Amino acid sequence: RVKDEGRGTVRFFEAAMDEQLQARRRIEHELSGAIPRGELQLYYQPIVNGRTGEIETFEALIRWHHPERGCVPPAEFIPLAEQTDQIGRIGAWVLDTACATAAAWPQPWRVSVNVSPKQFRQPGFAAGVAAVLGRHGLPPGRLVLEITEGVFIQDAAMAVEVLTALRTLGVRLALDDFGTGYSSLSYLQRFKFDKIKVDQSFVRRLGQNADSLTIVRAITHLGHNLGLQVTVEGVETQEQLAVLRELGCDQMQGYLFARPTPVMGAMMTPISGSPDLELARLRSLFAE
Ligand code: C2E
Ligand code: MG
Ligand code: MG
Ligand code: MG
Repeated sequence: RVKDEGRGTVRFFEAAMDEQLQARRRIEHELSGAIPRGELQLYYQPIVNGRTGEIETFEALIRWHHPERGCVPPAEFIPLAEQTDQIGRIGAWVLDTACATAAAWPQPWRVSVNVSPKQFRQPGFAAGVAAVLGRHGLPPGRLVLEITEGVFIQDAAMAVEVLTALRTLGVRLALDDFGTGYSSLSYLQRFKFDKIKVDQSFVRRLGQNADSLTIVRAITHLGHNLGLQVTVEGVETQEQLAVLRELGCDQMQGYLFARPTPVMGAMMTPISGSPDLELARLRSLFAE
């Protein structure tokens, strides 16, 4: 009897795994057609100056408009794209679309693009970036690439080479998700980034947990002492804003300022509704 039950359990797990595998394969297949079907879209979220509230940069954030499942967040398909080699095509589409869009912005705003480790490690990545910039006439200084410490894992020397090539082009480089990895500090010694982005998990706990304040303060001092700019993300409340201003964070990003939005109308700016009104609201958040 016990044996039978055991076998039943195994069968149950096999069936469940089979289902999971099939679901994965289906999403994989659907994702492969997402670009030609026009289902991918970039949303843009402002990153504001930490002292004045002026917009400096927009981060491009990918969305997948799935015909049945609606808007799928990147956390649900970017890891899959990484595992199945689709990230190369998707990443190239993101970079191309973001640069084309930013080149048409009426202000010298920068665009910040997330690059996944596998995409970064593809041969010719830096040359590809140069080609995209040239194609759209976007000055290299207006592009920020956000990379994570994952790029260093397989071959750190090669990563530093690619980063150096990008730096030579004039592109800015940010270390994203700072503080969540295994050894972020050692990577700060290997390459001098322009900025670090403090992971939003620390900001979320500001005010509830005294230790997160200590951590964000320490990261900010560390960054500044190394000559790097420090960006904080996930700023949602006035209280968080007040604390982060005290700490002297250089840039801030979060729902308090604006959520990611698609590019709107003829202006091609990512500020929805009336741009002037939005900019005034951002400034007023920083008014003394
Ligand atoms: P990330 O690069 O750290 O991006 C910041 C994430 O925080 C975004 O989530 C953004 O919408 C969210 N966020 C910003 N402000 C707030 C806030 O105040 N509160 C909360 N709760 N969240 C906030 P999103 O768009 O879901 O993207 C998640 C991650 O997916 C990104 O994290 C990035 O790692 C990845 N990703 C997004 N777009 C791309 C892409 O085009 N290529 C690659 N390779 N990865 C991407
Ligand atoms: Mg990012
Ligand atoms: Mg981030
Ligand atoms: Mg993150």
